[in-house]
Amino acid sequence: MYRTHHCGELSLDHLNQTVTLSGWVQKSRNKGFIIWADLRDRYGITQLVFDEERTPKTVFEQAQNLGREFVIQIEGTVIERESKNPHMTTGAIEVLVEKLSLLNASQTPPFTIEDKTDGGEELRMQYRYLDIRRNPVKEKLIFRSQVAMTVRNYLSKAGFIEVETPYLIKSTPEGARDFVVPSRMNEGQFYALPQSPQTFKQLLMVGGMDKYFQIVKCFRDEDLRADRQPEFTQIDCEMAFVEQEDILNQFEGLTQALLQTIKGIEPKAFPRISYEEAMRKYGNDKPDIRFGMTFAELNDLAQGKGFGVFDSQALIVGIAVPDAAEMSRKEIDALIDWVKRPQIGANGLIWVKCNADGSYKSSVDKFFNEADLAAWAQRCEAKAGDLLLVLSGAVNSTRTQMSALRMELAERLGLRNPNEFAPLWVTDFPLLEWDEESRRYHAMHHPFTAPKPEHKELLKTDPGAVKANAYDLVLNGNEIGGGSIRIHDQQLQSEMFDLLGFSKEEAQAQFGFLMNAFQYGAPPHGGIAFGLDRLVAILGGEETIRDFIAFPKNNSGRDVMIDAPAPLDAQQLHELALQSTAPPKE
Ligand code: ASP
Repeated sequence: MYRTHHCGELSLDHLNQTVTLSGWVQKSRNKGFIIWADLRDRYGITQLVFDEERTPKTVFEQAQNLGREFVIQIEGTVIERESKNPHMTTGAIEVLVEKLSLLNASQTPPFTIEDKTDGGEELRMQYRYLDIRRNPVKEKLIFRSQVAMTVRNYLSKAGFIEVETPYLIKSTPEGARDFVVPSRMNEGQFYALPQSPQTFKQLLMVGGMDKYFQIVKCFRDEDLRADRQPEFTQIDCEMAFVEQEDILNQFEGLTQALLQTIKGIEPKAFPRISYEEAMRKYGNDKPDIRFGMTFAELNDLAQGKGFGVFDSQALIVGIAVPDAAEMSRKEIDALIDWVKRPQIGANGLIWVKCNADGSYKSSVDKFFNEADLAAWAQRCEAKAGDLLLVLSGAVNSTRTQMSALRMELAERLGLRNPNEFAPLWVTDFPLLEWDEESRRYHAMHHPFTAPKPEHKELLKTDPGAVKANAYDLVLNGNEIGGGSIRIHDQQLQSEMFDLLGFSKEEAQAQFGFLMNAFQYGAPPHGGIAFGLDRLVAILGGEETIRDFIAFPKNNSGRDVMIDAPAPLDAQQLHELALQSTAPPKE
């Protein structure tokens, strides 16, 4: 038996017991006549003591040579410590060692296995198995497991069945490129790894499974933006005989259960906002609603007063920055420079100080009188002491710029309380999105999303105006889930492919199986998928997802530990029909 207890367990209750422990040597201190060593396992640390007088000689000698991260097993007696450590569960005791066996030696680790390590990101990733021994990483993985378990418990209780769907499939369009796998047995043919199990979960509904979920890997070959992983995990769900309302209620329930179980937050109904309103009020379809500074449109108040910059623009939009009227000229100039940076791209920024005494001072005093500025302030719901910031330009770009400015100010002013969780449903997304480059419509969610029934006719006349039964769940400014009610009618699905620019043959070749299935009694259905990695990171109060993933890839999609991706040898390439000539025989 390797152990009778683990290293996080022993206390004064175990005094004078003989125990066996196994673990890693965190560190040791050799005082000559006495040696202390910290023994660590997943559960904690127990202090070992080797004492010249009380420990058998051979064991004492062995203890001299214990290096960091050696794996050992010891037997000894639990004794009371002289100087206790109240911060440790095991801080009141130590184990006086009588037997020691070295289970495995270790090289000196390339970085310290401490909460605050001296190892840089690259090195930690290269030796991820050592990194995982550190508390901060270990705890995040345990936390992830707890979140996943809460999800499984909730959904199982609600009657969902976990079904696995295949990884070697054909393309499922979620808007990214596919990772492909060559088929050796079918020369010149390729599988695609799923961008999501979308079509399979719909087929499960046709198969009568009724309520499906799966915690599942998805693969998307995207240009990697910061903190994205080419393979990531979704909580993927689908239900039959449901309307949007049923889905929102069910998964609001799941999210509430998570917030309650993991964060102790009492369930409260989630607010809802339409996509259109989100864009108008926040310039963003995943607004962080933990703070205000909602947009106010000022066109009618600010145009036609002789200020040329405003008069020619499609949108004039303002926000009230709380208690910022005292901002210095220098600080305001810095903000102006900030919005003018190419990443933001604004031409300029107009400011109005709503002074504490009720007067106004602005950068456009020449064109607007106090009454004008007071009207702006009222529209922006500014109070005395606030600072108004106003941007103008084309509708979409101005909203995007203002949204970036709003987030930047929230960051600078510390308005985003990390302990607050503010979920929000965004609904009524447009079905389609016009893409200038390809001069075609693209599905905003994916091609299986149903238009709102009352908008079906519009599909023929004004496709861009059609709204979908599609929804996102947003948490603190992050999209944590998204889904839709699906098309379950073969005819409509075929029209949809038409609209998206698929020829009949292409649609048949790629999605014939789905349209066929729809001819055999497909029930109305819909679903949602949550991004587990991001969800766990947000619940864990962290910005990045990487440490919540046991073996993540770096920003260029590489696993630096196993050094993947890697080239294949000529023989393998030939077998896969990726290289025409066979390598010469040895
Ligand atoms: N398959 C979708 C996605 O990955 C989610 C859904 O529509 O259920 O975003």
